[in-house]
Amino acid sequence: MAIHLPWFLLFFLLSHVRTSPATSLNSTFSFNGFQPSDLSLSGFATVISTGALQLTNGQRTMNLPGITGQAFYPAILQFKKGPSATTTRSFSTHFLFEIVSKDQKPGGHGFAFVLAPSTNFCSASGGPFLGFVNQSNNVNPNNHIFAVEFDTVQQVDLEDRDGNHVGIDVNGVISNTSESAAYYTELNKKETVLLDSQTPIQAWIEYDGKGKQLNVTIAPLSHPLKPTRSLISYSIDLSPILLEHMYVGFSSGTQKLFSKHYILAWSFTMEGKAQELDLSRLPSVPRDRTPLGKSLKLYLYLSVALVIILFLIITISICYWTHKKSKLTSEKVEEWEMDYPHRFPYRELYRATKGFKEELGKGGFGSVYKGVLPRSGMEVAVKKVSHSSKQGIREFVAEVSSLGRMRHRNLVQLQGWCRRGEELLLAYEFMPKGSLDSHLFGIRRKSLSWEQRFKIVKGIASGLLYLHEEWEQVVVHRDVKASNVLLDGDLNGRLGDFGLSRLYEHGTNPKTTKIVGSFGYMAPELSRTCKFTTSSDVYSYGALLLEMACGRRPIEPERPCDEMILVELVHSLWKGGRILDAMDNKLGNSYVVEEAELVLKLGVLCSQAAPESRPNMRQLTQFLNGGASLQDLECHNIVIQDDPGMDQLILQYSSSAILSSTSGNSGS
Ligand code: ADP
Ligand code: MG
Repeated sequence: MAIHLPWFLLFFLLSHVRTSPATSLNSTFSFNGFQPSDLSLSGFATVISTGALQLTNGQRTMNLPGITGQAFYPAILQFKKGPSATTTRSFSTHFLFEIVSKDQKPGGHGFAFVLAPSTNFCSASGGPFLGFVNQSNNVNPNNHIFAVEFDTVQQVDLEDRDGNHVGIDVNGVISNTSESAAYYTELNKKETVLLDSQTPIQAWIEYDGKGKQLNVTIAPLSHPLKPTRSLISYSIDLSPILLEHMYVGFSSGTQKLFSKHYILAWSFTMEGKAQELDLSRLPSVPRDRTPLGKSLKLYLYLSVALVIILFLIITISICYWTHKKSKLTSEKVEEWEMDYPHRFPYRELYRATKGFKEELGKGGFGSVYKGVLPRSGMEVAVKKVSHSSKQGIREFVAEVSSLGRMRHRNLVQLQGWCRRGEELLLAYEFMPKGSLDSHLFGIRRKSLSWEQRFKIVKGIASGLLYLHEEWEQVVVHRDVKASNVLLDGDLNGRLGDFGLSRLYEHGTNPKTTKIVGSFGYMAPELSRTCKFTTSSDVYSYGALLLEMACGRRPIEPERPCDEMILVELVHSLWKGGRILDAMDNKLGNSYVVEEAELVLKLGVLCSQAAPESRPNMRQLTQFLNGGASLQDLECHNIVIQDDPGMDQLILQYSSSAILSSTSGNSGS
C-alpha cells in the first residue's frame, strides 16, 4: 500500500493538472502592455506589435454571429471560498482602454470586462452581444457571467439607455443598471466621457464582497487621478452569479457597426486594491485618420494643387502677355530709317498711347490717338497711317523727317515718326481744343465768335505763308480744310497734316482720290493737271475763309441749286451788293463789317478759276493784317468757274452725296 500510494498520488496530480486549469487564490497581476503569452486569446483578439490588446479588428459583417474577440487572464481565479460560499471575495481592477472607430463614424458595439466560468465563447455573438452571450442564451441564469459593459451603441431592444454608456450586466447584455459614460470632477461636476473618442480612458471596477457593493469609475487620461466619486455605485450580491472559480478578462463584438477595441494596460487584485498602472508606458494604438485630419490633408493637397495651378496660370499669363506685348511692340527697324531724325521707337509710342487706347478721331488717313510721351511728359496726338507701298513710305519718311524741323506758331508741330511694317505713326503736338471742323459743324458748334474766327484765318494764312515762302523749301500743304485746322489752348489756328497727302501720290491707295484734297477745297485745275501748287493751296484756303465767315461747308448738296456751291452764292451776293447776307446767321450782327467783307471777298478771290488770278499767301496775309486794301476790286471781272469738267464732277459728287445721305461733309 505504502508503495502504491505515491503512484496513486502521482496519477491524481497528473490527471488533475491535465484537466483543471491553473488556479490562484491571491491573484494579483498587472500588465503595462501585453505579450501574447500573458493572455488567453480567442476569436479575433490579438496582441498587436505595440503591446496593445486588440479585441476586435474593425471588421464588419452584416449578420450575426458577427465578429467577436476575447482575452482572459490564463489562470482561473478563485472568487469564492467554496462552491456554496455566500460571499464573494472582493476584487479590484484597473484598466485602460481605447476605442477607435473608422473615420470617427459611429462604431460599435463596445466591449465588456467579464467574469466567466469558461473561456470558451465560440457560440457567443458579436454586435450587441459583445462577444460573451448570444441571442438565445442572453440573460440565462446558467451563464454565471458577470460583466461591466462599455457600450457605444444604443440597442433599444436590449434596453440600452443611450449610445455611450457603462452598464452592470448579469448573465447577458441587458444591464441591471447603467449610466451614461461620465466622471465626476473634484467639484462633483459630471463630465461626459466619449467612449469611442480614440483616446485612452481609464476604468476602475471594485467589488466589496462583504458590503456587496460594486463601484465602477471611469476617467479620461487627461484626468489621470481616479475620481473620488464613482460613476456607478451599485449594491449587488455576486455570490449567486459567480462560481467558485472564474476567469477574468475582456470580450468584445462587432457586426454592422464596427470599431477596434483596445485594452492598453490592466491590473487586477483579489482582496485588495488593484495596482497602479504606469500611464507613461502605455502602448500606442493605430488611430484611424480623423476626418479632420483627412480633410486637412485634402485641403492641404487641394491648396497645394490650387497654388500650383494659380502659379501655372500666372506664369502662362505672364509669358502670354509678355510675348503678346513684345509681339505688339516689336518692330523691325530697317537701316535706312536710322538715317532720318525724329524717329520714335514703336514701344515708346505704344506706351505713350497706352496701346492706342484713346481715339481722338478718324480721318481719311487713319485714326488719331491721344498719348503722353513717357520721357518728356508731352501730350501728343499719334496718327496711324497705313500704307502698302514701301517705296512711298520711304520717300515720305524722308520728307516727314525734314518737315519735323519746321517751327511755326500756326503749324501743328510734328514731334516724330515711326514706321512699323506698313504702318506709319506720326506724333504731333496735341491740340486741346480739337479741330476747327468740330467748332463750326460738330460737337463744339456755336462756340466761335467772329473775333476768334478772324484770328484763326489770320493764323492759318501765316502758317501757309511759312510753308509756301518762308521755309527753306516750298511746301505745298495739299489738304487745307477745316478738319486740318486745329486749335490750341488759346484758340489759335494751327495747320496740321501738311505734306501728308504726298504719301499717296503714287496712287497705290484706292482711297487716295478721296483723301488728297476734298471736294469744295480742291482747285478746279487739279482735275486737269493733278499737280498741287501753292495756288491750289490758296484755292483751298479761300474755301476755308468762306466757310469761316458763312458757317457752312463749301458744297452742301441738300441746298437749292443756286445755294449749293458756297463760293458761287457769295459771288452772286457780292455782285448784288449784299455780300454780308452770306454771313453766318449764328453770329447775328456780332462781327466787324469790314473784316467780314474782307474775309468773304478774299474767299471769292482765292476761288478764282485761273490759278494765276488768285492772290498768293503773302498778299493774303497783308490784306488780312490791314497792310493792303481791296478798295477798287471789281467783282464782275472775277471768274469763279470756267471748267465744265469740274462742274460735272461737282454735280456727280452732289448726287452721290445726296444718295448716301451724308450730312454734306465734303472732307474725308
Ligand atoms: P482729317 O482727315 O479729318 O484731317 P485726321 O486724321 O487728320 O482727320 O484727324 C482726325 C481727328 O483727330 C481730327 O478731327 C481731330 O479731332 C483729331 N486730331 C488730329 N490731330 C490732332 C492733334 N494734333 N491734336 C488733337 N486732335 C487731333
Ligand atoms: Mg487731318
